[in-house]
Amino acid sequence: MEKLAIDGGTPVRDTKLFYGHQYIDEADIQAVTDVLKSDYLTCGPKITELEAKLCEITGAKYAVAVSNDTAALHIACQIAGVGEGDEIITTPITFAASANCALYCGGRPVFADIDPATYNIAPASVKAHITEKTKAVVAVDYTGQAVQADELLTMCHEKGIVLIEDAAHSIGTRYKGKPVGSVADITTFSFHPVKTITGGEGGAILTNNEEYYEKALLYRSHGITRKEDLMEHVVDGPWYYEQIALGMNYRMTDMQAALIISQLNKLPLFSERRKKIVARYNKAFAKLPEIIVQQEIPESDTTRHLYILRICPEKLKIDRRQFFDALGAENICCNVHYIPTYYFPYYEKLGYQKGLCPNAEKLYEEIITLPLYYAMSDQDVEDVIHAVEKIVENCRK
Ligand SMILES: *Cc1c(COP(=O)(O)O)cnc(C)c1O
Repeated sequence: MEKLAIDGGTPVRDTKLFYGHQYIDEADIQAVTDVLKSDYLTCGPKITELEAKLCEITGAKYAVAVSNDTAALHIACQIAGVGEGDEIITTPITFAASANCALYCGGRPVFADIDPATYNIAPASVKAHITEKTKAVVAVDYTGQAVQADELLTMCHEKGIVLIEDAAHSIGTRYKGKPVGSVADITTFSFHPVKTITGGEGGAILTNNEEYYEKALLYRSHGITRKEDLMEHVVDGPWYYEQIALGMNYRMTDMQAALIISQLNKLPLFSERRKKIVARYNKAFAKLPEIIVQQEIPESDTTRHLYILRICPEKLKIDRRQFFDALGAENICCNVHYIPTYYFPYYEKLGYQKGLCPNAEKLYEEIITLPLYYAMSDQDVEDVIHAVEKIVENCRK
């Protein structure tokens, strides 16, 4: 048996392998440089072009580019009418932004538990948490796998609730053949560098609903409009505009938009590579009884953003922390996605307590995010598998 690096053995590789990394090529650099030499750095033609491209890729009728996904989720909650005393339902296994968006609006996030096999929000748990106060469900396509959207849409629409799909992980994924972005009432994307497509920072709101689209445009830019049919007072002159709602400045720059457009040209390539790596990991880890492979639902043709290694602590002499440290010693840098949102002190002070979502809490104890990104070489992938196998062999009960 090979000695673990953490016990003084030789690591599986000499250099550190990071868990995520953007891929930027010459075309991306040229696209950004071209904008810098143009007349518009913000509110320019690249924003319109990006929005059209997002519609083309996803099949959504409308797209609104914004500064990041957190902004997109805030706007989505405003569109859904979340206000003082209202509730949204979301998963605790996500980035904090999926719940914070309710707090920005004076509402309260309610946490539904996950499906123990797919790790996505469980429709039955969502149903159990719907009340008179529920205004929206924020469903996260965790790791890139689509949520059970049809079930969620049916239960939301019965009660006049808006389904917001937080698709920060899932650009490129299809649900029952339909691209994510055209499935839920409102879909939001993130273009943070760790996600599949990046703009440095960036986000987008997608919808088929014209009224939601008009609201998204308003909230993105101070609640100000130049459309005469929306105005309340007499137009004073060509310079005239009106503020008719309280919006924010959540605009994206044209440099970001140009980078995202250029990145989107590579989406099929990124998607294919990620699928290949996931298939290789799944094949290797399915052979290890100490490892649980995330269940894939047939409805989702998934472009995976994160690969989750789940350990069976009952079958190992080490826990997740020790497994994580052992991978680090082998020079495989990992991460954990996510700490249940309501564990955070800020949420604790709002009255949330441990025990709300047992499946999510158990998952959190057992998961490690392995490296997964376009630029990983086949050797990098084999190194990760080698390191996992080596640790399992040394530590099985
Ligand atoms: C990254 C992420 C966000 C936040 O995206 P930003 O663009 O960084 O604001 C929200 N939700 C999920 C699930 C994410 O992974």
